[in-house]
Amino acid sequence: MLRCPVEGERQDGGFLRIKRLYLKNFRNYSEADINFAYNTSLIYGDNAQGKTNIIEALFMTSTGKSHRTNNINELIKHGENHFRVLLEFEANGYSQNIDIKYIKGKRKELFINGVKKERISEMLGVVPSVLFSPESILYVKGAPGERRRILDIVLCQIKKEYLINLQRYNRIIKNKNIVLKQIQTGKNEKVQLDIWDEELSMAGIKIVKERQLLIEELESRMNNIMKGISDDKERITIKYKTFKELDKIQVDYKDLLETIKNNREKEIEIGSSIYGPHRDDMEILLNGKSARMYCSQGQQRSIALSLCIAIMGIMEDKIGKKTLLLLDDVMSELDEKRQNFLLELIGNRQTVITTTEKTKYNALLQNNISYIKVCDGKIIEVST
Ligand code: ATP
Ligand code: MG
Repeated sequence: MLRCPVEGERQDGGFLRIKRLYLKNFRNYSEADINFAYNTSLIYGDNAQGKTNIIEALFMTSTGKSHRTNNINELIKHGENHFRVLLEFEANGYSQNIDIKYIKGKRKELFINGVKKERISEMLGVVPSVLFSPESILYVKGAPGERRRILDIVLCQIKKEYLINLQRYNRIIKNKNIVLKQIQTGKNEKVQLDIWDEELSMAGIKIVKERQLLIEELESRMNNIMKGISDDKERITIKYKTFKELDKIQVDYKDLLETIKNNREKEIEIGSSIYGPHRDDMEILLNGKSARMYCSQGQQRSIALSLCIAIMGIMEDKIGKKTLLLLDDVMSELDEKRQNFLLELIGNRQTVITTTEKTKYNALLQNNISYIKVCDGKIIEVST
């Protein structure tokens, strides 16, 4: 459907619109073909029917990965041996597509506009998306890994070099751990660690610096957003916890290298690398107190919401396009004030919302909305 651009909408690279999602043997879908509305698509249906599975497929077309599992085989429909996720979208004035194919036991294949891509990094930033779901609360109260994950998801989408360096870093850690274990059993020499520590420090410090910058930006944006959703009495600070106390001015790879070298015996004893950004965390504080430990569930949810909105703003500024907003089952968890705040913020961003009830949200009345009903892995009704 064609529609006049709304005020403020960019007509250059700022324009992104997903149009159609085709699924084959993905989760509980044998085959599905879903057309999205210009503004808001509301996917509704009972529990366990396949709503989040659609969100998961969309998230994959933007990040190359599921938000729920690292095991790609789980995504194949039970009893089958392959899946396909194809997204058609419009960007920069052109119809484009991203096609992900996976056959059990083989490498995942990625095509952009029909051209096979060797690296997942090539798809990042093409269809940028932000996901807010009930699990987003884990960014506040979950384990450190959850927070590293979200920082990495954002940085990978806005900076290809970050992803490439992160992949390199992960390979270094793997190799260094092998050497540490070999030294433990007398099969290798300590001096072999020199090269790995050097490499690890160089790749590691780039990660630390980027995460540190992102955290500073998140902190200031989240405070502005919190003013809209709380009564302006709550102040967020975020502390980046890495291998040493960071003063904001400088951190050098030599600092990391020195820390690792000083703890060499400890690492050998444990048989794994314990210093570096794979162990980092960010601590979110509300009015100076740990949000993870002291905030109520509602406060934690507000912080998670403000984090997701802050991420959306940062990605849009860096990539220069509006992100796709994915709201999985979150509306019922928010009180009316926060619901309206969120929906008004949607503005002219394309949004996919899932809920168990077909609901007409007042704040969205101006929008072009389609209602998509899913039942047992099938799209059974589409209405506007
Ligand atoms: P809720 O409202 O509870 O969040 P939902 O509609 O979001 O539900 P989904 O998480 O999208 O539900 O889908 C869950 C369904 O998909 C479950 O019935 C689950 O058994 C099924 N499912 C998950 N993975 C597969 C798979 N690989 N093959 C077949 N079915 C699967
Ligand atoms: Mg769900």
